[in-house]
Amino acid sequence: MTIGVVGGGQLGRMLALAGIPLGQKFLFLDRSTDTPAGQIAPSLVGEFTDQKLLRALAARSEVLTFDWENVSLAGLRALGRATRIAPPLAALAMSQDRIAEKRLFTKLAIPTTRHLAVDSVPSLVRALRTVGLPGVLKTRRLGYDGKGQAVVRTIEEAWHGFEKLRGVPLIYEEFVPFDFEVSIIGARSRSGEIAIYPLNRNLHRDGILRLTRAPFGPAALQRRAAHHLRRVLEHFRYEGVLNVEFFVRRGKLIANETAPRVHNSGHWTIEGAATSQFENHLRAILGLPLGATTARGHAAMINLIGTLPARPLVLATPEAHWHDYGKEERPGRKVGHVTVLADSAQRRDAAARKLLRAIDPVALRAL
Ligand code: AMP
Repeated sequence: MTIGVVGGGQLGRMLALAGIPLGQKFLFLDRSTDTPAGQIAPSLVGEFTDQKLLRALAARSEVLTFDWENVSLAGLRALGRATRIAPPLAALAMSQDRIAEKRLFTKLAIPTTRHLAVDSVPSLVRALRTVGLPGVLKTRRLGYDGKGQAVVRTIEEAWHGFEKLRGVPLIYEEFVPFDFEVSIIGARSRSGEIAIYPLNRNLHRDGILRLTRAPFGPAALQRRAAHHLRRVLEHFRYEGVLNVEFFVRRGKLIANETAPRVHNSGHWTIEGAATSQFENHLRAILGLPLGATTARGHAAMINLIGTLPARPLVLATPEAHWHDYGKEERPGRKVGHVTVLADSAQRRDAAARKLLRAIDPVALRAL
């Protein structure tokens, strides 16, 4: 049985690494064969919008999935009902549009940021008046890893941000002076079974995830985040893995965004949970029983951005697990990650601190 994956990045690569022991075959679609996934499984080469290639991928696959949310919705829709696609395209459509996402949060009684759509000077003025300063101006679509965003503290910065981003639909939202950020990942299978992972505590810098620690305490926060995630999963009769990110301010969750796919903040589950997010995504879309999501210890995931550190340095740390995505090093690019797994939060943090000193000294301050 072949799973067709639109996108051949590191998420696709880790899906294949999880699926091969299950006896699955994979076929990817990406712009080249020298992608993280293309290095370990066959790929069709071309644009994500190429209808002929999408049809060829569908014809050779039992089910289609995707490894990032900026794939062509129209291209996938055009395949018609005969092609099984999971997660559902309605969830993909929602996550591609920040306004639709906020609308859904509100409909499901999930607290989110105050915001307004901005597509002209008058709508920007209205948004600044209604939402106030400071705020964040973001592109409604195709934003990821902090791309297409401007923090706005003054009217001048608002104009500057608008000039930089204009030409595409925007959203202006309140700036949340959060205490910290969390995310929660869960899977829903075709049969309606739901499995939810422990909460992740995340540290971003310049819009890019740097560090995740899990499981992250307070039980009340975990319960509330899981409740919100469950509502989104059930709303879509979802199939696959879904992630929801939140700001936490004064103990309250404020939803930021969703990702209808396996997520960077869940990479720790490869070593740190009974079943990884990648395996559970596959089980969910194949209609297999979901695996347990319990943590096997205390995990920290450090993203390797731009360059890989010296391997011996990481491998000499007994708690560390090395993941190289097979990508060319380039500033700002996620080229790998390291997961530390220990039997206590203290031991985990001590090992993470040692590695961060060499890998990301700025993130070290957050521990
Ligand atoms: P996003 O692409 O919306 O996930 O934004 C990336 C990161 O930028 C978030 O994880 C936050 O660290 C920061 N950020 C985004 N929106 C806001 C906001 N409204 N208030 C404060 N920080 C934000």
